[in-house]
Amino acid sequence: AKQNGRNNYQFYLAEMNANAALRLQTEHQLHLALERGEFELHYQPKVKLATGAGMGKISGFEALLRWRHPERGLVAPFEFISILEETGLILPVGEWVIAEVCRQLGAWSSAWASVPPVAINLSARQLGHAGLPDTVRAIVEAAGVDPSLLEFELTESMLMLDPEAAVRILTDLKRQGMRLSVDDFGTGYSSLAYLKRFPLDALKIDRTFVRDLPGDSDDAAITKAVISLAHSLNLKVVAEGVETIAHLDALRAFGCDEIQGYYVGRPVPAAQCAALMAEESMA
Ligand code: C2E
Ligand code: CA
Ligand code: CA
Ligand code: CA
Repeated sequence: AKQNGRNNYQFYLAEMNANAALRLQTEHQLHLALERGEFELHYQPKVKLATGAGMGKISGFEALLRWRHPERGLVAPFEFISILEETGLILPVGEWVIAEVCRQLGAWSSAWASVPPVAINLSARQLGHAGLPDTVRAIVEAAGVDPSLLEFELTESMLMLDPEAAVRILTDLKRQGMRLSVDDFGTGYSSLAYLKRFPLDALKIDRTFVRDLPGDSDDAAITKAVISLAHSLNLKVVAEGVETIAHLDALRAFGCDEIQGYYVGRPVPAAQCAALMAEESMA
């Protein structure tokens, strides 16, 4: 048993070294990924919940970061966002995301009769940077994009790190004409008193509350309460992770405004968004 324990320990060490090596290699490659043009954005639609049957119009897209790795293929954010955060690389990459969304909005504006807003996820590091509003202003002005076509998503925990600073930054972005929403609502700690002070447009109910609807009575109660709270603060409610018609029906019954999830559409490359918009105008 002793021998075995030692082997396990050595195996553990080897595995730890392998993980550390992979992590270092990933970090190195992430430093080069931006200049090599390996990042891309996929777009996931959000739709209004019309009062009748079925779904309503596309009310927006959310831009989601992907890393096109030369050997590993398309890498999902959970494998690299935390490394971007820890190394500070999220600042230049985050600026690239904003610029790329603006470029895409410009292209769509010249091709489509009407363009829905696109939401961008911000990280704690970006919000912690007092220069964020000026950075955003410069990018948006250079691109000549209508600021009301941009939306920023921030989590509760990010807002609560330094609520006073967050109020200042959000107020600036709001004055520039952008929309603001709270992401993953219900999963973090948030003070309702502060919620009122942030110039928000929407709350996005985290998908963990949606997953077991309509069967789970606790999740149903929480979802209804969040919708009612949001509406009383004049905020729109978007439910995330809507995967089934049963989710959709429950959320409609609760008075949810918009939904997003695999049932509506998965995140797709920009080139496929035109087809989604066309589908809708023919419906
Ligand atoms: P998020 O902002 O909560 O984004 C929603 C995530 O849920 C996305 O994962 C999306 O693909 C996934 N999703 C959408 N519908 C469904 C559904 O019906 N069921 C399930 N199970 N999942 C669904 P993704 O693209 O892997 O992104 C993960 C997280 O990475 C995002 O969570 C966000 O926190 C972060 N992220 C993505 N892009 C960016 C970015 O440009 N900047 C920053 N700072 N973070 C980003
Ligand atoms: Ca989000
Ligand atoms: Ca979310
Ligand atoms: Ca999430």
